[in-house]
Amino acid sequence: MNAGSGRTMMEAPLLVSALIDHAARWHGATEVVSVETAGGKDHSTWAEIAANSRRLASALGRRGIGQGDRCGTIAWNNRRHLELYFGLSGGGFVCHTINPRLHPDQMAFIINHSGDRMLFVDRTFLTAVAALVPRIPGVEAIVLMGPRDPEAETILPGLLFHDDLVAEGFADYAWPVLDEAAPSSLCYTSGTTGDPKGVLYTHRSTVLHALGGNQPDGLAVAARDSVMPVVPMFHVNAWGVPYISAATGCRLVLPGPGLDGESLVRLIDTEGVSLALGVPTIWLGLLAALERTGSRAESLKRTVVGGAALPPAMIPRFRDEYGVDLIHAWGMTETSPLGTLNQLLHRHVALPPPVQEEIRRAQGRPPFGVDLRIVDDEGRILPHDGHAQGTLQIRGHWIVAAYFEAGGGALTTDGWFDTGDIATISPDGYMTIRDRAKDMVKSGGEWISTVEIENIAIAHPAIANAAAIAARHPKWDERPVLIAVKRPGEEVTEAELLTFYQGRVAGWQVPDRVIFIDSLPLGGTGKVLKNRLRDQFGEVLMGQTDR
Ligand code: AMP
Repeated sequence: MNAGSGRTMMEAPLLVSALIDHAARWHGATEVVSVETAGGKDHSTWAEIAANSRRLASALGRRGIGQGDRCGTIAWNNRRHLELYFGLSGGGFVCHTINPRLHPDQMAFIINHSGDRMLFVDRTFLTAVAALVPRIPGVEAIVLMGPRDPEAETILPGLLFHDDLVAEGFADYAWPVLDEAAPSSLCYTSGTTGDPKGVLYTHRSTVLHALGGNQPDGLAVAARDSVMPVVPMFHVNAWGVPYISAATGCRLVLPGPGLDGESLVRLIDTEGVSLALGVPTIWLGLLAALERTGSRAESLKRTVVGGAALPPAMIPRFRDEYGVDLIHAWGMTETSPLGTLNQLLHRHVALPPPVQEEIRRAQGRPPFGVDLRIVDDEGRILPHDGHAQGTLQIRGHWIVAAYFEAGGGALTTDGWFDTGDIATISPDGYMTIRDRAKDMVKSGGEWISTVEIENIAIAHPAIANAAAIAARHPKWDERPVLIAVKRPGEEVTEAELLTFYQGRVAGWQVPDRVIFIDSLPLGGTGKVLKNRLRDQFGEVLMGQTDR
């Protein structure tokens, strides 16, 4: 704290290390429960997480990792990942979380682009990362997130171990006092066209996001909560939950690799989870498992649903059958991610439940710290009347200004970030996403690039042209469907074309269906009219329940 220099109030930089220090000093005995990759549960406390984070930071500094250097993580939600969140950022390094579900080509691109010097990897992903090593020459060391493991060393000679690094660090290490504008973490978002883009969060943006996102109409996490982020720690910092948890000192339950409904029901019941957060697909799985197991999920009071639109029928099911309040939220990698959350206003409290339910379907209202507007194609600002539909733009303390090493800013000339989502805003300020201008498929919370799918199809000798669309899906929210035109005189079946995708993209990115048509509808500028294809074929998967 800087108490001198004529200031009337103290000033201290907003740092990630301050969050974990607070958790250790004031909630040191509160438990962090972690489902381990190797099986079993690990029980630690905020005091232990803080101590291990410091030791990690100290060990990395001694090994020559410098301020601002990036270190990647490829891991589930678990205790060691949490230590890396605080150890890397607290030490002045950058915690770069990598989505393990990406195709190896994309993973290599991201690791090379970020300049990761070290990679911290869960056992699940070790073999895949070992195969990547020749393609990521900038990575100096790979660390297995666990104790010393001779079998793992045979997969990757020279492997380091997380627990060894913790042991070699100094217990009395003091966090560096950083500039709050220094970078703390890095996440890549799938590029609508072309390569993924990095969003480099700062200490300041991260702490303000934790404070702003946790207001009473936001996540509202309290010290008495037992919080389970099912949203992965490799997705936009698990929506900020690790930082918010440290700031509030809540009990934290990290679910590890088992994200199926039954595993989650067991964890909720045994760990008394009161708040859980994740994408709609996860809650569909949970509802099915609750029915199968007969659990009442007694402890669960609230779930936050975001990343994709909340299916409206889920709200009454959770409320009436299990007494759980579903909170709809919207955000994106570029917005840290909390942009809007849905809670009622005072004037809604006395309304009949069906009317309230209608209001709560929207993606919600912005907390203090972010501001929204909708604009038309000419950039004119549209009214908040619930009807005018335009591109959603956002600005605020935790919104991207420029992508990491991409050259140039990411904002409009008057300083707003264009989300690529199409929305309306009601007179009460509730934002509803109506469509998406960016041409991507979001399947169970994971992006699939339509451009990539189309390029593969067009590379097939029997295909003249192809367009991929996001078709609605009852389980995955959206799945890709390919609309293809054959070359004159050429033959190919749906099954043959789908086989052509093997090895070219990750299995879950392969389209669910191929539909052959005679020609693609084109607009005035020669672009494929995907809206028309979506109108025609967007519902073809709604009859199916699984894939
Ligand atoms: P990501 O950067 O992967 O977090 O994806 C952000 C995008 O996911 C947003 O721009 C939206 O298109 C979509 N999205 C996130 N939350 C919601 C929601 N609650 N409803 C509809 N779409 C959403």
